[in-house]
Amino acid sequence: MESILAATKDAGISTIEEAIAFTLGYKSAMASSSPSSQIPSKAQSGTVVLVTGGTGLVGKAVQEVIEAEARADEKWVFVGSKDADLRNFDATHALFARVRPTHVIHLAAFVGGLFRNLKYKTEFFRYNVQMNDAVMQCCKEFNVKKLVSCLSTCIFPDKTTYPINETMLHNGAPHTSNEGYAHAKRMIDVMNRMYNAQYGCKFTSVIPTNIYGKHDNFSIQDGHVIPGLIHKCYKAKQSGGDFTVWGTGKPMRQFIYSLDLARLMVWVMRKYDDPDPIILSVGEKEEVSIADVAGHIAKAMSFSRAVKKDTTKSDGQFKKTADNSKLMKLYPDFKFTSIADGLKETVQWFEKNYDAARK
Ligand code: NAP
Ligand code: GDP
Repeated sequence: MESILAATKDAGISTIEEAIAFTLGYKSAMASSSPSSQIPSKAQSGTVVLVTGGTGLVGKAVQEVIEAEARADEKWVFVGSKDADLRNFDATHALFARVRPTHVIHLAAFVGGLFRNLKYKTEFFRYNVQMNDAVMQCCKEFNVKKLVSCLSTCIFPDKTTYPINETMLHNGAPHTSNEGYAHAKRMIDVMNRMYNAQYGCKFTSVIPTNIYGKHDNFSIQDGHVIPGLIHKCYKAKQSGGDFTVWGTGKPMRQFIYSLDLARLMVWVMRKYDDPDPIILSVGEKEEVSIADVAGHIAKAMSFSRAVKKDTTKSDGQFKKTADNSKLMKLYPDFKFTSIADGLKETVQWFEKNYDAARK
């Protein structure tokens, strides 16, 4: 008790609410939720876009797109976990104080494929809630003009009708395999509406389908299906062993190439002003089975032996077919990269960057 009293005194706490918040570990959050006039002001000219998760699959793709079409009136800042652990409110606040963003694309997340989701449900929930809470609150405190966060089609209800559209996000429980991730991500949409209603914040979100491309996490145990299969095929070629798909190969997925998604994210940042989410996906006709994807990968890697299946492994959600008509209405000219071309580029990148690639 004495040490708590001494610590609260040291921390400059004078009310009972502050003392309770301090004891629960919220002192710094409370202190920094005071009016933004307390934040040292710094003249801000032009647009400063902070991209969290800037070192990941999507972040690197946004960087490539922005480098190709830089605008003089926009400064883009890409950060990873080494710049700030966004699970920590104070570290997030310090990052915002350094960068002074006018706009934020929030990509950072505790991410992984089906098998990582099955193993770490608690961390998927906690870490993502912590990061999203810190980023949103800082966007509010630093008067960020627009925040775009990232959901996923895998967070939709498991038992649903198809195709899924943006209005169906909360209509039932997600698939149990990724319930930690799904519930944390769904709360972004809830919080967007609450910050908008209470504080007038312009927060929105995008809902991509499965993403793949250069700079992905090619870990066989933790990664998503495409990087996992590319790595397994690479190893099978090197060792002369089997190339094995986990599960039956029957589940269906829509895959978006990371550079296509990056172009769409930049478009959302500049042009999409609705607080309601928007699905960023290829059309329903582009949905493919996991077995088909394995076939494309084998072809792109010139792997000519039979592809095996391990049906003792989970299939996860059978499908999550998404309707991209909202996007196509707003951006009718957008052209998606075919899965064959996107996989060819990704495989080439992985083979060339094998030593340095995340795996
Ligand atoms: P990724 O390649 O795994 O990258 C994750 C990013 O988050 C990295 O930059 C990482 O930084 C950062 N990060 C992780 N923990 C952090 C922490 N505690 N503090 C600060 N930064 C942290 O993921 P991605 O595939 O690009 O995913 C981007 C967004 O798309 C995520 O919001 C994800 O939920 C969403 N999404 C992904 C998919 C998919 O198929 N990949 C599908 C739908 C939606 P370090 O590099 O320093 O670790
Ligand atoms: P999801 O789309 O959110 O379920 O996540 P993933 O990208 O991990 O894809 C999972 C689907 O791919 C399931 O049907 C798995 O059975 C299948 N799959 C087949 N081989 C692999 C693999 O090597 N890694 C992963 N992550 N999934 C695989």
